[in-house]
Amino acid sequence: MALSFLNFLSSDLGIDLGTANTLIYVKGKGIVVNQPSIIALEDNSDRIMAVGQEARQMLGRTHQGIHTIRPLKDGVIADFEATEIMMREFIKKANVNRMMIGRIVVCVPSGITEVEKRAVRDTAERAGAREVDLVAEAMASAIGVGLEIDAPVGNMIVDIGGGTSEIAVISLNGIVNHTSVRVGGDEMSHAIIQHFKKNFNLLIGEKSAEDIKCTIGSAVALEEEIKTEIKGRDLIDGIPKTIEITSQEIREALNDPINTIVEAVKLSLERTPPELASDILDRGIILTGGGALLKGLDIRLREETSMAIHVAEDPLTCVVDGCGKILDHPEQYEKVLLKQKRSN
Ligand code: ADP
Ligand code: MG
Repeated sequence: MALSFLNFLSSDLGIDLGTANTLIYVKGKGIVVNQPSIIALEDNSDRIMAVGQEARQMLGRTHQGIHTIRPLKDGVIADFEATEIMMREFIKKANVNRMMIGRIVVCVPSGITEVEKRAVRDTAERAGAREVDLVAEAMASAIGVGLEIDAPVGNMIVDIGGGTSEIAVISLNGIVNHTSVRVGGDEMSHAIIQHFKKNFNLLIGEKSAEDIKCTIGSAVALEEEIKTEIKGRDLIDGIPKTIEITSQEIREALNDPINTIVEAVKLSLERTPPELASDILDRGIILTGGGALLKGLDIRLREETSMAIHVAEDPLTCVVDGCGKILDHPEQYEKVLLKQKRSN
């Protein structure tokens, strides 16, 4: 009786712990946290100065006493302690009392090692979860976009996140094959930084590069090409400078990372068993993750693969939406949860 009363009061959470963004879904409330996966700490004391959006604003703007950390790299935990701090802070922002957390469903990339899974599980437990379940990100986003994941048909999901692009073929509640490349949105922003360094001796910040990518970056020629200005520091005379840039040149700068993603999709199609490949031909490929928002990426993939490409309605939230559905309908999605070998 006491236990069921506790269950009634406790909150179940779905967490998309992404390299770029962390989202938290609270059962019965919806998505309550959607913040960059960044924390800012004071150098000597490691006191938390800011998390999420506020910490992102500090990126590249910190003075000597503060440093910013992105605790995840390539979809997995790179800094255990920082991830734990970040998760706790976000759960606080979600207005959930850590003593009252019931179940947490967390997404992890396909192909992560047992040790990496353990790290995610431990982090969620230390954040207060009484029960932790892991689910593959591709599976969660398929559920999030509303695919019939338990049907004997193949679906291909291409998720372009911050650190990686993951391509997965799903059928009958499982992942048939997956391909992952360590190229995603960060690499695109990095390519823009390199472009200005190499061709203009101009140093631009990470945040400016990302803003440029999102506003004028593209994967195919635009009907109307865009011009804008960018500010940076001249590497020769050290003076701040503004130059005019065009969407054409940014597209060129993005060419390498985009090609890597396109090639990975093609490779994945080649690896797909024929019956499932023919399903994908019928149904098309679904693009998720923030990178799916790059202008013309869908057109570029369509041109290169001859497949229909559908950008998810909400590419940045479909993973956490999937976690939410798993929490809302536990029996229906029991089968998609990842089994973990117990180490103790
Ligand atoms: P992760 O799951 O790794 O946290 P997300 O799915 O949240 O990643 O996607 C974040 C990435 O998407 C970032 O690199 C961000 O710059 C990129 N992104 C977001 N919006 C756009 C946009 N409009 N155009 C291009 N890239 C975008
Ligand atoms: Mg993601």
